[in-house]
Amino acid sequence: MHVKELFAKAHHEKFAIGAFNVANIETMRAIVEAAAELASPVLIESSPGETKWMGARNVISVARNFSSEYGIPIFVNLDHAETFDECMVGIEAGYDLIHFDGSALSYKENMEITKKVVSEAHAKDLMVEAEIDRMARKSSEVYKEQITIEELKKTFSDPQKVREFVQATNVDTMATLFGNIHGIFPTQPPLDIGLLQKICEVIPDTFLSLHGGSGIPDSQVQQAIKIGGVVKVNINTEMRLAFRQTLEKTLQENTKELAMYKVLPPVIDAVKGVVRKKIKIFGSANKI
Ligand SMILES: [Zn+2]
Repeated sequence: MHVKELFAKAHHEKFAIGAFNVANIETMRAIVEAAAELASPVLIESSPGETKWMGARNVISVARNFSSEYGIPIFVNLDHAETFDECMVGIEAGYDLIHFDGSALSYKENMEITKKVVSEAHAKDLMVEAEIDRMARKSSEVYKEQITIEELKKTFSDPQKVREFVQATNVDTMATLFGNIHGIFPTQPPLDIGLLQKICEVIPDTFLSLHGGSGIPDSQVQQAIKIGGVVKVNINTEMRLAFRQTLEKTLQENTKELAMYKVLPPVIDAVKGVVRKKIKIFGSANKI
């Protein structure tokens, strides 16, 4: 199955596929085991930093090996590449999807580079995701401070601009903002589902990607998926949190073991628990 067919199926049947970030093989194993247990297709993704750490070709090779070992569709997404060169690393390594995030650039410059990325990626039958609105937070972490609705509203996507951008660039997927934000906050204002509906109406044939999937209440994520445009939900912070907290606890309980692979199974289980929970929320179980 091509990833485009999977997205079309998700669009039609109103479920979303989880896009889970990786920076180590243990997290990859956790994602794949959870997805296999639930017979769910899955996206594995790496940001440029994570890609540099893992090696783009290693991410691809391990993902392909796991896919054949577990017999489930696994696609690989380059997450938040911010330059044309970073995109080319993913395109050349064989990523299935390339997310070019030009939201820090001017609208015009973003459009020009997105067009170039689309031309390179489509020549290899890869999908491209674009982004025009700047997230209020770039980093996937746990924040202590609150985020106000006023601050979030400044980042909201303008449906007309989104439509114009899609028409000009021919991207497959748009990462739009309607109250979603990277990271976890003590309290987070609700998603603007009405705005999401408007965005869906102006770009009915374009897939939508929901970033900042960690920390948004489950019912709201499900509502966003049911509207019909959101087929991909990015998750990073909740997995990082589970990894770190469980690793600290396991090391405290086991001060002598030197073979790290013997210490890591509970860490894998904790991350697996997050992925399992998300797959159920997104409705992608039994969709392979
Ligand atoms: Zn993101």
